[in-house]
Amino acid sequence: MKILFVSSEMNPLAATGGLGDVVGSLPRVLRQKGHDARVVLPLYRQIKQDYLEDLTFMRWAMIKLGWRTMYSGLFRLDLDGLPVYLIDNEFYFGHDNLYIDYSFDIERFSFFQRAVLETLGDEMDFEPDILHLNDWQTGMIPVILEAHYKSKDYHKNVNCVMTIHNLKYQGIHGREQIQDLFDLSDDYMSEGGILKDGVPNFLKTGIQYSNRVTTVSPNYAKEIMTDYFGEGLNGLLAAQGWKVSGILNGIDTESYNPETDAEIKTNYSPNAWKRGKGSCKKALQAELSLAQDAKTPLFVMVTRLVEQKGLDLLLHIVDELLEENVQLVVLGTGNQEYERRLAEAAGRHPDKMRALIKFDGKLARRMYSAGDLYLMPSLFEPCGLSQMIAMRYGTLPIVRQTGGLADTVQAYDKFNNTGTGFGFLNINAHELLYTAKEAISVYNSRPDAWNNMVQAAMLSDFSWDKSADEYIKLYEDIVKETYQID
Ligand code: ADP
Repeated sequence: MKILFVSSEMNPLAATGGLGDVVGSLPRVLRQKGHDARVVLPLYRQIKQDYLEDLTFMRWAMIKLGWRTMYSGLFRLDLDGLPVYLIDNEFYFGHDNLYIDYSFDIERFSFFQRAVLETLGDEMDFEPDILHLNDWQTGMIPVILEAHYKSKDYHKNVNCVMTIHNLKYQGIHGREQIQDLFDLSDDYMSEGGILKDGVPNFLKTGIQYSNRVTTVSPNYAKEIMTDYFGEGLNGLLAAQGWKVSGILNGIDTESYNPETDAEIKTNYSPNAWKRGKGSCKKALQAELSLAQDAKTPLFVMVTRLVEQKGLDLLLHIVDELLEENVQLVVLGTGNQEYERRLAEAAGRHPDKMRALIKFDGKLARRMYSAGDLYLMPSLFEPCGLSQMIAMRYGTLPIVRQTGGLADTVQAYDKFNNTGTGFGFLNINAHELLYTAKEAISVYNSRPDAWNNMVQAAMLSDFSWDKSADEYIKLYEDIVKETYQID
């Protein structure tokens, strides 16, 4: 099968979070399984700078976008055998950041979606069976495909899978602008079309017009049908429930492998982790001028600093947590208020806490390898990759049992002394504190249980293998429907 992933992020070219990791790894696994998976994304400035010599120019065209006609270049890059197409336009993508501001982003990704469809087929020399769309930035593709191409007999056999990595961000904008940017007739401007509560909504449109919708964990697929998690789209998702499913994300287990990771101080394996992990911990403590004490539980957290990640819970109890004999290192960027409050907390506890306000993938690896416990008290979590990466490096996560966190972390069972992490149920800061204290107590007083848990966490299977098979099955179902094969 031929699958084209359409995305605003892809690791290692340009990423801000989990979406980039998924698009960086899943297409590769599909290729290993014999399918022709490729990716298309915007040619951001950083990609132009970092990969200039590897880029091959393919075509250019002028794209009509409302009253404007814009240049759209098409480049190709082979990333260790994976073909990646890049849409070039300086005005839209020649910036330092992937995302800029809300209303400009709407226009930028409107252009991107139109440019992708204009280059499909002849321009790219690739006519996919499946367009695999990701999040709001690609949500309008199925409707434009229908309105401007299929209706004129183009791309008749191209079908769409829409993956929701995060339901919170939907791409909502004024009716006139969107109708104009996409050149859509009035027929589409209704609640049964692209509108949600009277305004165009990209993600809603993607759900409405795609052949199948997936979310990134089975539990989140159920949660989004409810008022609390549904972000206003639960009614639509439930009504179209037949086409919605949850497929758990994997992580790149080759890249995130403590046995081979070149970024960490000492490599280690599930069967012999103690010395190596201890050495990584000591190295991080030294790097951050924390006491080099092997026995002090080290809590780490690597995250976007946004409300979703449960930072209010942490900030509420951080002083109480740090009354314990523990160390805490947080790495993240995002909301300035959280950046400030974390830096202040670190300032109040200079001998126990560090707040590192930046994006640093190498430091993240040093933290995953050095930590004893990983904090992830998310309010909601479509899948979450960090907790899986942490477990792979033998750092036990403390999670709120929601979304993909509930699917991936086996919460500590105090009767059998088993688990791959610790969990709590309610959005309650003291439940987080209580669970953290329970984890500290297991660490300090039940070394056998702890060691078994670390080993079980490291041996958990977070590879893409099973999930990739589920995606292939989904693509096959759609292709069968298209050609009406039983
Ligand atoms: P989300 O996609 O909601 O941000 P995930 O847990 O799915 O959360 O994925 C986050 C990914 O981004 C992980 O690989 C994590 O290590 C990485 N990450 C997040 N913030 C940072 C940071 N400040 N520095 C380095 N890596 C980060």
